[in-house]
Amino acid sequence: MRGDARSMTWTSPRTPAQAVRALAADPRALAFAGGTDLMVAWNMGLLNGRAVVDLSRLTPWRMIRASRDGLSIGSLATHAEILRHPAVRARFSLLADACATVGAAQIQNRGTLGGNLANASPAGDTFPALAVYEAVVHCLGPEGRRALPLLEFFAGVKKTRLKPGELIESVFLPSLPKPARAQFRKVGTRGAQAISKTMFAGALWLDRDGVVADVRLAFGSLAPTVRRLRAAEAFLKGRRLDAATSAEAAQLLDADVSPIDDIRSTRAYRLAASRGLLARFLAGR
Ligand SMILES: Cc1cc2nc3c(=O)[nH]c(=O)nc-3n(C[C@H](O)[C@H](O)[C@H](O)COP(=O)(O)OP(=O)(O)OC[C@H]3O[C@@H](n4cnc5c(N)ncnc54)[C@H](O)[C@@H]3O)c2cc1C
Repeated sequence: MRGDARSMTWTSPRTPAQAVRALAADPRALAFAGGTDLMVAWNMGLLNGRAVVDLSRLTPWRMIRASRDGLSIGSLATHAEILRHPAVRARFSLLADACATVGAAQIQNRGTLGGNLANASPAGDTFPALAVYEAVVHCLGPEGRRALPLLEFFAGVKKTRLKPGELIESVFLPSLPKPARAQFRKVGTRGAQAISKTMFAGALWLDRDGVVADVRLAFGSLAPTVRRLRAAEAFLKGRRLDAATSAEAAQLLDADVSPIDDIRSTRAYRLAASRGLLARFLAGR
């Protein structure tokens, strides 16, 4: 069945409170941001008979604001706006690199960070970077505001902990010292327009003696939701990076992920490729 605009109710609230009220009033109502995911659903007729709450007039939710404490990204900021923002590039380069791999230019120009998060695909490109930056998702709903750490925001494949009527307002990335090394890598069937088989973001801080002072490692597409590699991180802290340490850390990957065979890849390939990504990052390549 094709999308039928006549069967849909379309509202364009001017304030966040109006948007929340419109969503809370109808359990089947849907927020519409860039529409890159929802237009696919529209084409399949899945929006027929539904109330759509267009967020495009909530212009303050497009803002990206840098401060000493960190960076606040409005949920309606597009991937293109994020990847071009000077503070994102200078201070949170993993996120800029991730946004640059989302679809192609058309998708980057329409798709928003809030839509990416709410869609909660295991392969959402921004999630490993946001996990490394320990981002906090700020939500607004009928009961007011609340903040959820990124890893608690996701509840499973395509599932979030957003409550009925609740919207993502912004995402906050706390400031952190400049890492000695930071890397984002996405492995897909092609170099562009691909959904990842595996995806890695990592940041590493070394002390003056070359010992790992801190390390944050995250993978996407290896579990129902984005994962930090807690076992490998704990193992690496306080150690000098050499070939044996890197190899041992890469073996600890399995402790925190549970990849599957599906149409895009196999469990075995995902694990082998991910170990390779991790080893290359730790080797500084
Ligand atoms: C051709 C194509 C290629 C793509 N490639 C990639 C890719 O490489 N990597 C990737 O990660 N994604 C990809 N996507 C998915 C999509 O583009 C992104 O997830 C995008 O960020 C979604 O944002 P949007 O604003 O378009 O969301 P929309 O389509 O507007 O909404 C998506 C979902 O989020 C909800 N929502 C939107 N905004 C909010 C909010 N503020 N609060 C609460 N709920 C909200 C909507 O109700 C809906 O359920 C692709 C999609 C297409 C069609």
